[in-house]
Amino acid sequence: MGKTGIVGGGIVGVALARALSARGDEVTVLEKEGRLSQHQTGHNSGVVHAGLYYKPGSLKATLCAAGRVSIREFCEQKGLPYREVGKLVVAVDESELGALAEIERRSLENGVPDLTRIDDLERLREIEPHVAGVAAVHSPHTAVVDYASITEAMAQDVRAAGGQVRLGHEVSAMTLENGRVRVVTPVSEDVFDRVIVCAGLQSDVVARFVGADPSPKILPFRGEYWELAPERTDLVKGMIYPVPDPRFPFLGVHFTRGVYDNVHVGPNAVPALAREGYNWLQWSVKDTFESLRWPGAWPLAKQHWRMGVDEISGSLIKPLYFQKARRFIPELRSSDLSHKHGAGVRAQAWGREGELLDDFAVDQVGPVTLLRNAPSPAATSSIAIAEYVIDHYLDTPSAAARAAKTTATDAAPPAAPNPQASTEPKPRS
Ligand SMILES: Cc1cc2nc3c(=O)[nH]c(=O)nc-3n(C[C@H](O)[C@H](O)[C@H](O)COP(=O)(O)OP(=O)(O)OC[C@H]3O[C@@H](n4cnc5c(N)ncnc54)[C@H](O)[C@@H]3O)c2cc1C
Repeated sequence: MGKTGIVGGGIVGVALARALSARGDEVTVLEKEGRLSQHQTGHNSGVVHAGLYYKPGSLKATLCAAGRVSIREFCEQKGLPYREVGKLVVAVDESELGALAEIERRSLENGVPDLTRIDDLERLREIEPHVAGVAAVHSPHTAVVDYASITEAMAQDVRAAGGQVRLGHEVSAMTLENGRVRVVTPVSEDVFDRVIVCAGLQSDVVARFVGADPSPKILPFRGEYWELAPERTDLVKGMIYPVPDPRFPFLGVHFTRGVYDNVHVGPNAVPALAREGYNWLQWSVKDTFESLRWPGAWPLAKQHWRMGVDEISGSLIKPLYFQKARRFIPELRSSDLSHKHGAGVRAQAWGREGELLDDFAVDQVGPVTLLRNAPSPAATSSIAIAEYVIDHYLDTPSAAARAAKTTATDAAPPAAPNPQASTEPKPRS
């Protein structure tokens, strides 16, 4: 119970607000944009992941499995579209069989429902008639939804329970005062008992307001989509995914039949020149300079420069993007990629040594809980992430002790622990 402020009106922030307001907490969501879901939540692939890829036992694996079920139930309850179009992860040649076997192993350990392995082209083509490949795993319950509509429906629940969702409220400062948090925007000032920060691409910037560790920093990675021409959407029945490169946290360019029956191709992964840089012309000198002087910049560049050059070339030169897509559907023609279908920017957390954080990461500074890494599948997992944060960070004796400790030290927040370490569940009450 208590007065809770939530920074960020994407699906994770609004799912938290909904869960807290449903049990009677006084909740206020502060969102800087003029509408909800303006960033990652409104610019993603719309896939409800079934949990194929994630390291067994990780937060991604457990919260994705629980979150998938919760999102399906929420859509049923609200009459929102939820379509189980199914996903094929396809090994195009023998060199990808080892990585495919690892995905199959993880999927089975993660309890992905009704997963099957396919080793002949005939069976592959019963599922996707135009696909090419030597083997695949098929997840029939992977689904598609509209995450922006889901977030809007969750926000309606928040308002119905007496909570506030304030748009156009950009949090510009937070200070700790007597165990509470003063939150300032250009148009308001509030004092909350606790604050949860779900600021996506800005999560490291907002974390710094309360003296949290600057690491992990957010590295914005843009993912660009093409759309299949309407007369060619019959090339794809559900979803066709590549076997992802295990060294990289992204899944690779894929084909997805969306909830409104359009088929998009993408996303790739290119470094964005601004945190909210949706094309090459949106460039922030500040964001780029901050990324370049981060200690992890050179180790990361050294490790992934080849991949970077490859992805950037594909972004700038359509035939290169097309070639990647055509590996899976040989009948595809360049003209079938009819137009660019927008882009999303991923908030990927990045450590001092140049490592890209794989798992979800939560951090705590006194009464402020910070979601510092919530990339894919965080939209799928959003309702489960909300429950996890409430159980492990808000409703524990240690949460009460933290608040008391902050009262004692007042405006001098403790240094934040390493967020990767702080993803370990806290003891439950
Ligand atoms: C290209 C792409 C494809 C993806 N595909 C999938 C997929 O198919 N399935 C899946 O499960 N996940 C997918 N994801 C990941 C998923 O979209 C995100 O994990 C999820 O949307 C994160 O939600 P969020 O609420 O944390 O962040 P966001 O949606 O980014 O919301 C953060 C909000 O905080 C606000 N904010 C920031 N700073 C402030 C401030 N100072 N004051 C007030 N408000 C502030 C922002 O305006 C924003 O609205 C994809 C992501 C991308 C980019």
